[in-house]
Amino acid sequence: MRKLSLAIVGLTLLLLGTMALLLVSRPWEQGASSKETHGDFQIPKELTFVTTGIENQFPEGMVFTAEVAGPEEIEEIAMHYSLKDGSRSAYGYLDFEPSKKVVGTYYLKTKGNYYLPPGVDITYYYVAKDKVGNEVQTEPRVITYLDNRFVWQGLEEGPVKIFWHDGPRSSAQSLLQSTMDTVKKMDDLVGGQLSPVKLYIYNSKPEIDVALPLQSQTSRRELITAGQTFADVGLILMLEFDGDTASHEITHLLVDNAVGHAVKVPDWLNEGLAVYAEKSPAREYTLALNEAIKNNTLLPLKGMSSRPGKPEDVILFYGQSHSLVRFLIENYGSAKMKELLGVFRGGSQEDEALLRVYGFDRSGLENEWRARLGLEPRSKLMAPALSAATGT
Ligand SMILES: [Zn+2]
Repeated sequence: MRKLSLAIVGLTLLLLGTMALLLVSRPWEQGASSKETHGDFQIPKELTFVTTGIENQFPEGMVFTAEVAGPEEIEEIAMHYSLKDGSRSAYGYLDFEPSKKVVGTYYLKTKGNYYLPPGVDITYYYVAKDKVGNEVQTEPRVITYLDNRFVWQGLEEGPVKIFWHDGPRSSAQSLLQSTMDTVKKMDDLVGGQLSPVKLYIYNSKPEIDVALPLQSQTSRRELITAGQTFADVGLILMLEFDGDTASHEITHLLVDNAVGHAVKVPDWLNEGLAVYAEKSPAREYTLALNEAIKNNTLLPLKGMSSRPGKPEDVILFYGQSHSLVRFLIENYGSAKMKELLGVFRGGSQEDEALLRVYGFDRSGLENEWRARLGLEPRSKLMAPALSAATGT
C-alpha cells in the first residue's frame, strides 16, 4: 500500500460530493451481465440448467441466478466459487421454492467483511440436486467482478495488464514501462519473477475510495491511499498514472512472489522495499523522518512489524522503513536482502531471520541504524523511562 498525506496530493474532501454522480451503472467492457442457455426447459426429461445469469451490483455485490428444471422436484442448487488459483473457495445455496422448475438466486456480497477488489476473476459453477438424488453440474466459468461505473480500456505486455478509463493510452504505456523498469531494478534484491497482474487506474480519490476496502474514518480523512495491492489475486488498484505508485505496488507483488502468499514479511521490510523501488520517494517521508530524529520520536523497530494504527504515525512509518531498508542494502549488499527474503520464505521469524543473514536481531539492527544516524542506542534511551515506571 502506498500512503500519502492528503495535503501533498492537493485533493480536498469537497470532491467526495461528486461521488454519487459516478454511481450510474454502465455496460462492462468485459464480463458483461451474461446469460447462457443450458438446454431446453420445455422437455425436462432430466435435471437441467435452463439459464444462468449474473447481475453486477458494484460495490455491494453480485446476484447469481440459475433456472433449473427437471422431472422431479428440485431441492438444492449450490453455487461454488473461488478466486485466482483456487484460493478462497466457498459455496452458497441459492434461494428458491422447491418445484420442478425453479429460479434460484444467490447474493455474493463484495463489501465490508466480504470485500472483494473490483477486477478480481471469480471462477464459479453450479450443482443442482432433485429429491430423488439426481445431480447436475455446470462447467466452471470465469466472471470478472468489475467496477462498472466506468468503461475500461486495456493494455497488456507480458504478465502485466493495465486498465484505465478516460485517459490517454500514452500514459498507460509509460506506466507499463515503469512496471518493467521496477522488475529489472528489484531483480537483485527481491527476484525477477513477476506473476500475472492487473492494474486498475482511477482518476481521483473519490473514485478509488468506492473501490477500496472500508478503512477507519480517521485514516480516510488524513491519508490518501495512492495504491493497494491484492497479491493473492494478482490485482493492484491505484490512483492516477503515477509511475512511483506502480513501482511501489509492483514491488509488493514481487515480495509476495518471493516469499509466497502464506508468509507475511514484516511491514517495515515490505514497505521499505516498496519505497526503495520508487524513483523519487515522497519528500514528506524524509521530512517526517528528520522531524522524528530531531524530536527523538522515532518508532521502535519492534513495533514496526505491522503498520501503525495512528494516522499521524503512518507517514513516519514509511520514511523510517525506507531508511532502514536502504541502510541494509547500502551497507550489506543486495544479495543479503535476497537471502533474507529466502529465509522468510523458509518460515523464519523476524529476529531469527535477521540473525541468520546479518548476524544481528531487531535490537542490533536498530542500534546499528541509529548509530549511522548519529543517535544513541535505543536501549540507553529506554532506561530512564523504565526506572520512572517502576518508581525508582
Ligand atoms: Zn506499500
